[in-house]
Amino acid sequence: MIVIIIATNWVDIGIAPYKAAIYITIFWIDAFLLTFILSRQYFYQVQDKEIAQKEALENAKLSESTQEQLLTLQQENQEELEQRVQERTLELNIALQELEEVNQELERKNIIDELTGLHNRRFYDQKILAEYRRSKRNLTPLSLVVIDIDHFKRVNDDYGHLAGDQCLVWLSGHIKQCLKRNSDLAFRYGGEEFCLILPETDSQGAFTLAESLRENIARRAFLYQELEIPITISCGVCTYQQQADAQPEHIFAGADKALYTAKRSGRNQTQEHKLVDEDINQQDVT
Ligand code: GH3
Ligand code: MG
Ligand code: MG
Repeated sequence: MIVIIIATNWVDIGIAPYKAAIYITIFWIDAFLLTFILSRQYFYQVQDKEIAQKEALENAKLSESTQEQLLTLQQENQEELEQRVQERTLELNIALQELEEVNQELERKNIIDELTGLHNRRFYDQKILAEYRRSKRNLTPLSLVVIDIDHFKRVNDDYGHLAGDQCLVWLSGHIKQCLKRNSDLAFRYGGEEFCLILPETDSQGAFTLAESLRENIARRAFLYQELEIPITISCGVCTYQQQADAQPEHIFAGADKALYTAKRSGRNQTQEHKLVDEDINQQDVT
């Protein structure tokens, strides 16, 4: 401003003779001031930049450490989660295994007689139908043996119900032992009545098996609390040999008839009933 005023002679301040020197001095002062201001500004800028860089670096470090912490936390969480999943999976597997065992036990109980360990009546109904169909398909004989303890009521009356139960268990053991083939099946049909399904067995084979069981039982006594209790059984045999229209019920009814004959004829024996048209044409066989 001063330079402009002097140069244009707006105000005569009587310094015309020193104009040049004043110009130069003012110029240098200006130049110095300008340089000073610019260098200060530059210095501040550099300082600001350094501070900003420092801050950015600190922020970056902070963010890095935060990220690391986050990562560690994530890993810990992941490990904890995996461990929990493993624990849960293990618990689930154990529960499934227990459930499977319970199911198997239920299935077993469903087809096994609790007292004797033989198959029960429910399983007989399933099996006889299956074996009957197989016999029909393969044109093989199928035999049934019905077994009943003679005068079993006396065992209960004379020695008690517990002795009667033990006698059923004892006889069941012998019945199991008398079966030679894997396909032969023994059932507790009800009370003190038992039944054998003998696939691919003709009447002679079934008769021989029933007789050997009967003789075996008659030969030895049932031992209860050091008491020898003589036991005998009666057996009825019936064989399905592709007789037309014969059904499983007819085979059982035939075996039951044979058993009735054995009882009527004095017990402790095996009788056979041959299926005839009359048996099959009977309306009610149960
Ligand atoms: P039979 O020679 O004519 O077969 O005479 P039985 O005495 O064996 O026949 P009956 O049908 O008169 O009696 C069967 C008895 O079997 C009656 C019943 O109390 C007994 N009984 C049935 N089931 C069981 C059981 O699970 N345990 C015991 N202890 N006795 C049973
Ligand atoms: Mg009886
Ligand atoms: Mg009976």
